[in-house]
Amino acid sequence: MATIGALMEQVVDGPLGFDGVEATPDWAREVRRLAEQRNATILAHNYQLPDIQDVAHHVGDSLALSRIAAEAAEDTIVFCGVHFMAETAKILSPDKTVLIPDQRAGCSLADSITAEELGAWKAEFPNAVVVSYVNTTAEVKALTDICCTSSNAVDVVASIDPEREVLFLPDQFLGAHVKRVTGRANMHIWAGECHVHAGINGDELTEQARSHPDAELFVHPECGCATSALYLAGEGAFPADRVHILSTGGMIDAAKAAKSSQVLVATEVGMLHQLRKAAPGIDFQAVNDRASCKYMKMITPAALLRCLTDGADEVHVDPETAARGRRSVQRMIEIGNPGGGE
Ligand code: SF4
Repeated sequence: MATIGALMEQVVDGPLGFDGVEATPDWAREVRRLAEQRNATILAHNYQLPDIQDVAHHVGDSLALSRIAAEAAEDTIVFCGVHFMAETAKILSPDKTVLIPDQRAGCSLADSITAEELGAWKAEFPNAVVVSYVNTTAEVKALTDICCTSSNAVDVVASIDPEREVLFLPDQFLGAHVKRVTGRANMHIWAGECHVHAGINGDELTEQARSHPDAELFVHPECGCATSALYLAGEGAFPADRVHILSTGGMIDAAKAAKSSQVLVATEVGMLHQLRKAAPGIDFQAVNDRASCKYMKMITPAALLRCLTDGADEVHVDPETAARGRRSVQRMIEIGNPGGGE
């Protein structure tokens, strides 16, 4: 077996793989050994590189991983995902050490609204209820009344007194989906978006639908193409019973139940790895194979090895912010089926 020193030398000297460390069986064994030594559990989001998903103890969407983190017997959580996800794990598990292999792994959606901007928006609508998708920073969660995932966003908004205005943030596509389903007129939507999901557009989807007439279509509600998918279904161009608007967790369940031999997937391409593992007999194809999140891919085999060796980067959330954020996350868990999220 390669020693930790030899593996770390690869970071500098090669052979070149991901960031200089190849995801070899030796690497995987060393990662697991270091995790055990540190009494750590490794969590990987569905959008992570396949090698990171395969070496992790648990793979899932952001909320499922946060719950696993809270219930884990280990006292260190290594969160292979983006920063707001590791923060959410810290909010739900304040007594645990939470590490992220690269703290620069941000999120363009979470960055589309700051706590200052939300404070100013709330001042404009002082009686409104603030609903935030989980892709937000801890500071934004602390100013939120109820968090939601893509699975329970409709239930969360429907649970609010119809007379109260709703401020929905930060994703405009998820907001439009919720507004359409609930028919709620007094809902204001923040114009945020994820650069990856926004890049999956209706034209591409229309072309794919025409060239794969028998395929089912899985759409994540944060995709810019969700409206097009529903429009196409309504027009009969894509049979309505083959269009599924799903959270990433819901996609895994739907994959196992899919009747078609081919499924088009409209979300980040990392999702294909778990779908192909869940249903190997189905041909899963990305609607846009360039829909790859550069932040998720910052968690490389080298970064994970460094994280476990050095105990860095550690995620900190100010205790008062964490306590306020925890209330909004717990209200989300109490309403409807919160399974899912990105
Ligand atoms: S895919 Fe988009 S929403 Fe998800 S982490 Fe990347 S930037 Fe954020």
